Amino acid sequence: MEYETVIGLEVHVQLATHSKIFCGSSAAFGAEPNENVDPLTFGLPGSLPVLNWSVVEFAIMLGLAMNCEIRKFNRFARKHYFYPDLPKGYQISQFEEPICERGSLRVPIEDAVRTIGIKRIHMEEDAGKNIHDSRTQSSLVDLNRAGVPLLEVVSEPDIRSPAEAGAYMRTVRQLVRWLGISDGNMEEGSLRCDANISLRPSGSLKFGTRTEIKNLNSFKFVEQALEYEIARQMSLLKSGKEVIQQTLTFDSATGATSPLRSKEESSDYRYFPDPDLPPLVIEERSIHEIQEKMPKLPEAWYKELVEVYGLSAYDAAVLTAERSFVEYFREVFEISSNAKLACNWVTSELFGLLKKAGLEIHKSPIKPRDLGTLVKLIDSEAISGKMGKLVFEEMFASGEAPQTIIDRKGLKQITGEDQIVAIIKQAFEKNPGQLAEYVGGNDRLHPFFVGQVMKLSSGTANPKRVNDLITREINKLRGAA
Ligand code: ADP
Ligand code: MG
Repeated sequence: MEYETVIGLEVHVQLATHSKIFCGSSAAFGAEPNENVDPLTFGLPGSLPVLNWSVVEFAIMLGLAMNCEIRKFNRFARKHYFYPDLPKGYQISQFEEPICERGSLRVPIEDAVRTIGIKRIHMEEDAGKNIHDSRTQSSLVDLNRAGVPLLEVVSEPDIRSPAEAGAYMRTVRQLVRWLGISDGNMEEGSLRCDANISLRPSGSLKFGTRTEIKNLNSFKFVEQALEYEIARQMSLLKSGKEVIQQTLTFDSATGATSPLRSKEESSDYRYFPDPDLPPLVIEERSIHEIQEKMPKLPEAWYKELVEVYGLSAYDAAVLTAERSFVEYFREVFEISSNAKLACNWVTSELFGLLKKAGLEIHKSPIKPRDLGTLVKLIDSEAISGKMGKLVFEEMFASGEAPQTIIDRKGLKQITGEDQIVAIIKQAFEKNPGQLAEYVGGNDRLHPFFVGQVMKLSSGTANPKRVNDLITREINKLRGAA
């Protein structure tokens, strides 16, 4: 029997707000253990939560970007469980009333685009971190992360393969970075995912029993864990056994999943509305204001780059990987007006040097307007591509404007006919023997004279014009002879 894979992902996005979701402590990563804490983080009696409005704004932004309906009347709920990294004994989350629902995300995969349903997006607080020290046989608790805001994005079970799951995760990461709501840094845990997976006989409409793999923190692990789970469930089903609904953990060292606990039901959490937080009412006006502030999204940019700027699908994909890329390109284009050339200089030359120097694009020593000017000088043949590259490297090293470097080095390309002909004549005078031979019919001397002219002009003559004008001058001499 053939089986179909069914996958649904729950992605946790850590938000890049300054402070935590319900108190003023810093939400920054990397502080000393238990530095970013306060009475609320410890769940001390008498401390009360106050909602950070930035979290709501970020949630609405992501919801709009994922075509969701935004709920006007929101409530926070307490989700109870006991763990040392959660001193309150409950996590503040949303349960029956998530802020965003019924959306979709278009995910590019190979040459196609798949639309994956978004079931819900809700706001919640993160828990702290337990660190188990095997050397001292003790456990330590760091509460810096407790109370850091998260959005949980829950997909419909629309994903059909591990590769699609990876592509979906990448698209979520691209989008949250694009909106500036999260750094999407997987090593630091800013993007984590729980993957639900089941198999069903091909053609069947009923879903099979699923397992949930917790806390996958890299694209590779998501795909590996799902591959492993497909093989495991497949062999159970093929031998007539049943898949048990379970929560699993993935060991990246062995590449295998193993049971963590039997699947909990939502009733286990004793959800109820948090009495310390008033209902959150979102007005239509606020949604409009947020919508107005949102940048043009990657998919719209991609379409425009292909259809309006005439770039290839590949170039458009490279430029829309990050908002900073397309914004940089846009400025280079504004000055140079040549999209293809601007794109090449940004994505091959500039990205190459940035990578070598280990710099992000916003730290580029070359400002986009200066690169635009350089591209324009090359496009108009004021300087050759070869000289352009020299100027470019110097710009990268010194941060100077291209014209400053060109003037200092006297690199301006000679394109004027009179100037070039004067140099050609010099070359003829200096090489009377070769000239006589050439005029006499030996065309193989043509490249020799091109070389001579380039040398006399220290490489600044436009090679194409030199080429044409030598032929013209020789023909004149042949006609006169
Ligand atoms: P729960 O409340 O138990 O976590 P949800 O219905 O909210 O369950 O679903 C959680 C995630 O599991 C969603 O991403 C959903 O798409 C996915 N999912 C639900 N049923 C299945 C299934 N049979 N196979 C694979 N994924 C599933
Ligand atoms: Mg779940």
